[in-house]
Amino acid sequence: MNQAPFSIAIHGGAGTILRTNMTPEKEHAYNSALDQALKAGIAVLTEAGTALDAVTAAVTSLENCPLFNAGRGSVFTHDGSHEMDASIMTGHNLESGSVAGVTGVRNPVLLARAVMEKSEHALLASRGAEAFARAMQLPFEDSAYFHNDLRHSQWQEALRDDKIVLDHTEKKFGTVGAVARDIHGNLAASTSTGGMTNKKWGRIGDSPIIGAGTYANNATCAISCTGHGEYFIQSVVAYDISCLMEYKGLTLADACHEVVRKKLVQRGGEGGLIAVDHAGNVCLPFNSEGMYRAWYEAGQQHVAIYR
Ligand code: ASP
Repeated sequence: MNQAPFSIAIHGGAGTILRTNMTPEKEHAYNSALDQALKAGIAVLTEAGTALDAVTAAVTSLENCPLFNAGRGSVFTHDGSHEMDASIMTGHNLESGSVAGVTGVRNPVLLARAVMEKSEHALLASRGAEAFARAMQLPFEDSAYFHNDLRHSQWQEALRDDKIVLDHTEKKFGTVGAVARDIHGNLAASTSTGGMTNKKWGRIGDSPIIGAGTYANNATCAISCTGHGEYFIQSVVAYDISCLMEYKGLTLADACHEVVRKKLVQRGGEGGLIAVDHAGNVCLPFNSEGMYRAWYEAGQQHVAIYR
């Protein structure tokens, strides 16, 4: 078993990401953005920082990059706005914070963390969550900050076809997340997303739902998911993996295989996840064509996109 002092993994979404649809320039841009976010997390962990600070740093970096469907790069809703979801959880005390359907907040991950640390709640939504963000003096941005021509044309296409589109299933962008194990043996997980293009009626995915899109428990593992949120909610994916380890004694790799390659596939739930266990082992399973991912394990750094 790997006894590395610390480990971290990040993702930028899973979906139909094919080498044939990629240009060398785009591939380079993704690899650099993933590398930068991973390094932001590694910098924290190298200085004996916490897994919580490491996942916060990595997800903030990904939220600030327009390539990914989170923060700045969030997809358009049916109404032409951006409604973002995010969550964060620490494995040593099982505390968590989540926000759902927030608009204008520059870094939803920081708001989720404020919910965890500075409120007595676990999940705040829409206008109330935004009022809390203002009370916490977190930065807001106007709609120009979130505007992106590609996202806009994806939305126009979805509007025309009257479809709600999982952004990275047909295009190549996605939700972001990070999981880490620090040198103190603590685990943490975080996920952030703009959800699905053309979503309406206040649709919320799995990303802010603890146990579905995000989970961390020092006794088992830390997980951040990406994929078709409805399936991930109904399959309680992140907690299911933790439970298979806790109650059935499965290894992280076996638990991930059982849930992502078997259970989710049987239900038709496309996507993947990143995971790290209490010993620092990393696992990055997905049942889609690709998943933007990067990880640091046993002193080695890796970046990958395709299967
Ligand atoms: N899981 C996210 C959602 O359904 C989407 C994604 O992973 O890109 O909101």
